[in-house]
Amino acid sequence: MVVGSGIAGLTAALHAVASGCRVTLVTKDALEHANTRFAQGGIAGVMFDDDSAAAHLRDTLVAGAGLSDPEAARVLVDEGPARIRELIAWGVAFDREPAGGFVKGLEAAHSYPRVLHAGGDATGSAIERALVARVRAAAVRIVEQAFLRDLVVEAGRIVGVDLLVGDGSAPVRERIAADAVILATGGAG
Ligand SMILES: Cc1cc2nc3c(=O)[nH]c(=O)nc-3n(C[C@H](O)[C@H](O)[C@H](O)COP(=O)(O)OP(=O)(O)OC[C@H]3O[C@@H](n4cnc5c(N)ncnc54)[C@H](O)[C@@H]3O)c2cc1C
Repeated sequence: MVVGSGIAGLTAALHAVASGCRVTLVTKDALEHANTRFAQGGIAGVMFDDDSAAAHLRDTLVAGAGLSDPEAARVLVDEGPARIRELIAWGVAFDREPAGGFVKGLEAAHSYPRVLHAGGDATGSAIERALVARVRAAAVRIVEQAFLRDLVVEAGRIVGVDLLVGDGSAPVRERIAADAVILATGGAG
């Protein structure tokens, strides 16, 4: 069971299906509705030979002004390029120069132009669209307009989700059993 249909939930669902799991994805609105769709600034990753993971890590920690978890920043830097290549394989068309290379964006605290965009300032929209198409084509059961009310716990173990399903006027309570639940519901939500 995956809850949420932003970049995290859609990616988790695709990986779970590829690993042989039977996957249900529930989300509180339409599948394509998530903060991911509104992200404009692009994605930073070490995608060029004259850039380095050490420089990306340093820039990230400096921008974090001492508040970042260095281990989390290291995961971001080390795994980012593979995740970006995965998005490309799944159909996200990052902007390219006429000669074919990626357009390099220099933004914020980065000391190297390592920010990739898709559709200019519509990066999140391009990512959401590609991943939604991929999930719709995969063997994923999709339940939209389903608000996660609570997790169902038995003997100290999560065994499912307690949902309010419907468009808001007359939602219906529904429980779905699950061996494992991935919460991909975004930030404060
Ligand atoms: C305007 C804007 C600009 C941004 N610009 C950038 C940028 O340039 N670069 C960048 O890297 N990041 C940017 N971000 C941040 C980025 O969009 C988020 O970090 C990222 O999209 C989070 O993805 P997510 O999958 O974790 O969560 P989300 O995309 O927020 O998805 C959460 C999902 O969970 C669902 N959900 C939430 N609660 C429940 C519930 N109770 N029951 C069922 N479903 C639920 C939501 O409907 C949604 O589908 C921006 C964000 C915004 C809003």
